[in-house]
Amino acid sequence: DELISQIAAGEVVERPASVVRELLDNALDAGATQITLRLSAGGVRLISVEDDGDGIVPEQMATALKRHATSKIASLAELESVGTMGFRGEALAAINSIAELALLSRATDQSNAWLLDGRTGELKPAARAGGTTVEVKELFFSVPARRKFLKTDATELAHCIDAVRRHALARPDVGFAIWHDGKLVEQWRRQGDGDAARTRRIGDVLGDDFLAASIAVDHRVGAVRVTGRAGLPDHARSRADQQFAYVNGRYVRDKVIVHAARSAYEDVLHGHRQPVYVLFVELDPARVDVNVHPTKIEVRFRDGREVHQAVRHAVDQALAAPRA
Ligand code: ADP
Ligand code: MG
Repeated sequence: DELISQIAAGEVVERPASVVRELLDNALDAGATQITLRLSAGGVRLISVEDDGDGIVPEQMATALKRHATSKIASLAELESVGTMGFRGEALAAINSIAELALLSRATDQSNAWLLDGRTGELKPAARAGGTTVEVKELFFSVPARRKFLKTDATELAHCIDAVRRHALARPDVGFAIWHDGKLVEQWRRQGDGDAARTRRIGDVLGDDFLAASIAVDHRVGAVRVTGRAGLPDHARSRADQQFAYVNGRYVRDKVIVHAARSAYEDVLHGHRQPVYVLFVELDPARVDVNVHPTKIEVRFRDGREVHQAVRHAVDQALAAPRA
């Protein structure tokens, strides 16, 4: 079981930022409105994610760290199919198998919090306001081969911040704070709902200079709606590191969207310049498969052409709009 969890961990957890992504997903699933991330040594020594969500009742805390009974990996030969099944319900179990994990939580109906030690399974009363803190220490302590491939603390920290940035752009209704080695490195306050809130959050995360050098995208083609902001050509960068695409609110890396956006910029960008954009694609969930990869970062569209056209037209239209 331990081995299977470690294999699962290999699929889901590549570096500290992968842990951050999973813990943020859980906090948002729990309805958090404020999330505080504390990191030490680029996240290798400590990743702590604190939320004000629903919490976990003490009877459920140990279960939360267990691998769900659904996956039935009997042999190495079956591992091939695992990638497509995904590891739903296994993130905490996987992380617990490769790090020192502690769960501190107080569910809404509880008079006090509870602390679970992931290693020993010991559960004891603790103090905390409503919500959950997941603390992950010494990532990959038992997997030295993995640890060896980690980059410098500064690089791992940058990846962790990127992971939060991706969530933060999509959730202006949630406040985020990131601390590293005791210093506040980023803070994005709750902005609320609606287009104006979303625009303010984009400004907070990507900078007011990006807001000034970008145009609102809002376009519908058939059943596909595309919103967000497209950076003007003169705001282009040498690297493609500021291209954020979301499908039904979830950050994705998708060739169809990247290609469509790229083609809209083709005639206005010169050399190897890369556009900056934040694009939210909404479509019927039945027309997109999110379980292609365990991290759900890749998707497969039922009709890729439909999405390509919608994104292409949306960005074309934004770039053609007269500048205010
Ligand atoms: P999944 O999110 O796919 O269910 P995880 O391993 O990530 O699997 O989490 C296991 C379970 O632990 C969740 O289903 C949830 O019930 C609980 N949980 C984890 N993190 C939190 C959190 N921050 N707040 C409330 N419940 C949580
Ligand atoms: Mg999860």
